Parts: sequence; structure tokens; C-alpha cells
Amino acid sequence: MDATIGQNGLKLMVGDITLQKTDVIVNAANGTLLGGGGVDGAIHKAAGEEILDACKRVREEELSGRQLPTGEAVITKGYNLPASYVIHTVGPVWEGGTANEPTLLASCYENAMQMALKHQLTSIAFPSISTGVYSFPVEFAADIALTTLVSFLKEHPFGQVMITLFSEADYDVYKTSLEKIMEEK
Ligand code: ADP
Repeated sequence: MDATIGQNGLKLMVGDITLQKTDVIVNAANGTLLGGGGVDGAIHKAAGEEILDACKRVREEELSGRQLPTGEAVITKGYNLPASYVIHTVGPVWEGGTANEPTLLASCYENAMQMALKHQLTSIAFPSISTGVYSFPVEFAADIALTTLVSFLKEHPFGQVMITLFSEADYDVYKTSLEKIMEEK
């Protein structure tokens, strides 16, 4: 599904984010930035070992050794990936909805877009942050992701935003949500 928001495109597709040829792809990382399972593991594997070294440098130099807080974003190069850059963000773990999870998830999308804009990147691909191991309900996550991205794109000339879903079922959830948001617009 394709939507147009101002001068910008917002596209939903089913696919593997590590194959996307956008300027930047977003990683649903964990606070350690040292890699993990799911999309994080796939991105580290496809990018090669240099991305792990880059993440370790970010931990030391930008975060003073601390973990990346939930909702925040950092950037590295993409190394062996088709994408030139990777923005690493940490989604919230779903704890039933009482631990500020919706606001933190919105921050992931907002901060990733701000980071891409700051680096003059004009195309970005997101995975469905937090809806894997972190168990955020996908219908709710889709509404938050798409509402945040649509309002960002209304306010900023950017380029192309893609959400790369890993299953047809997730794609259908995001499509239903985007259709609803575009009707209300
Ligand atoms: P989180 O810990 O934020 O929940 P996960 O990696 O467990 O992150 O899952 C986030 C989403 O990414 C899930 O929908 C999962 O199916 C999906 N995913 C896993 N591998 C890939 C991939 N290579 N490309 C795109 N999406 C992926």
C-alpha cells in the first residue's frame, strides 16, 4: 500500500529489511547495542562484524558506556548492507500498557525520523518495532507507528518512508490502520 502525505511517500510492504536499498534502515535493537535475535540479529549478520564495532564505539563515545535508553536512537553506517546507514532504536517491552509503552514506541519513530532528517537522508525503512520478542500488541503498535509517521510527514519535507513487515498478517494489520488514518486525514 502507498500513501502520499504532502510531498512524501509512505509505503507498506512485506519483505526482509536487510535487503532494502533505502538510504537508511531502522534496527529494533536492545539497549546494549550488541545485537540480539529477530530483526536485530538479521541486521548484524547482514551488515557484518564492523557494525558491532561501530555500536561499541557509540556506547563508549556517545553514551559514556551506558545502554541506549528506550525510545532513543543512534546512527551507524550500514557496512555490508545495501542501505548506507542503520538507525538503532530501542523499543519498549510490553508490560501491559501501564509503563508508558505507547509514548516510548512513538518516540522510537519520531527520534529515528529526526535522526534521518539531521543526516539529510531521504529514504528510510522501518521494521515493526517491539511487536516481536518485546510483545507489543501489533494492532496498537501499528496505530502508534503510523500516526507518528503521518504527523511527522505532514510537518516535514522528507522523502520516502517504508515499513517492511515480515508477515502477510502484520502487513494486513498495518494496512487496515493506515487506511483508517488516511480517511480521517
Ligand atoms: P522487538 O524486540 O522490538 O520486538 P523483534 O526483532 O523481535 O523486535 O521483532 C520485531 C519485528 O521484526 C517482528 O515483527 C519480526 O517478525 C520482524 N522481523 C524479524 N526479522 C526481520 C527482517 N529480517 N526484516 C523485517 N522484519 C523482521
